[in-house]
Amino acid sequence: MKPYINATGLVRIFRSDDIETFALQGLDLTVTLGEMIALVGPSGAGKSTFLNLLAGLDRPDAGVLTVGDLNLADANERTRASYRRNTVGFLWQQSTRNLVPGLTAHENVMLPALLAGHDHAVVKQRAYELLDAVEMTAQRNRDPLRMSGGQQQRVALAAALACQPQLLLADEPTGEVDWATAEKILLLLQTLRQQYKLTIVMVTHDPRVAETADRTVAIRDGRTSSEIGTDDIETVVVDSAGRLQIPIEIRQRIGLGQRATVTVVDGVIQITPKRAQVNDYTLNRSTTEQST
Ligand code: ADP
Repeated sequence: MKPYINATGLVRIFRSDDIETFALQGLDLTVTLGEMIALVGPSGAGKSTFLNLLAGLDRPDAGVLTVGDLNLADANERTRASYRRNTVGFLWQQSTRNLVPGLTAHENVMLPALLAGHDHAVVKQRAYELLDAVEMTAQRNRDPLRMSGGQQQRVALAAALACQPQLLLADEPTGEVDWATAEKILLLLQTLRQQYKLTIVMVTHDPRVAETADRTVAIRDGRTSSEIGTDDIETVVVDSAGRLQIPIEIRQRIGLGQRATVTVVDGVIQITPKRAQVNDYTLNRSTTEQST
């Protein structure tokens, strides 16, 4: 089956003054329709950069990025704007970033769809339905800024779904609430995912949050490094260039530096540290030096 999201060899380089930062260095990732994935990885690994590309807010410097039938790397600005309005919804860590102060919860949920030019009566009705779906009907006329963090995030979730997106992008959606509240939001996310047939890509640093996804994808140094599926088995990802990332613990355990020999024995790939190389060179050089 064709993946809903296809990222292949994605490269994003940021240039400032004389410094080039390779935020994504050939990232490969596919997501199927209706899947929920969690992106994890150390700070600076490229998670937000990837999320911004998926959001249609930024363009890759190289590689393929498609969502459904849309090629985001090539699409013109008009198509990308329509994609941002109609296909994708965002849920950011700070609920205040998702909401407009001074508007009621109901108005906040209506706003994105009104800005997208949807019919007022339809938008109004749908906002009621969404507030009901996130269990915030009773608070619909309140200013979200006077609500608790959890309630704000519920309203933000309703607002993110205002334009009936297929794809929901969430950046640390429970990063500012306590765990009891986070659990409720995550449960709600699952319910809404079923109800509105959403595909969800969520960035998190919290393993408890990642566990609620179908698959956890670890990004390291701008590349996909490993995945953990529902079977709880960690799989190392081999990217389109044949590269794989060997976890630091394993490299340390076998003393793997920057060189290795790779051999195939009975269908199994063996990676052997090539420690001797530097020593050989030093040895050869000192032997040569002594003899001259
Ligand atoms: P993460 O979300 O995993 O913490 P980011 O995607 O934010 O990582 O960043 C990846 C790398 O790209 C980092 O080295 C970061 O400093 C750099 N970076 C991100 N955005 C920009 C930008 N707009 N300008 C320059 N460098 C950037």
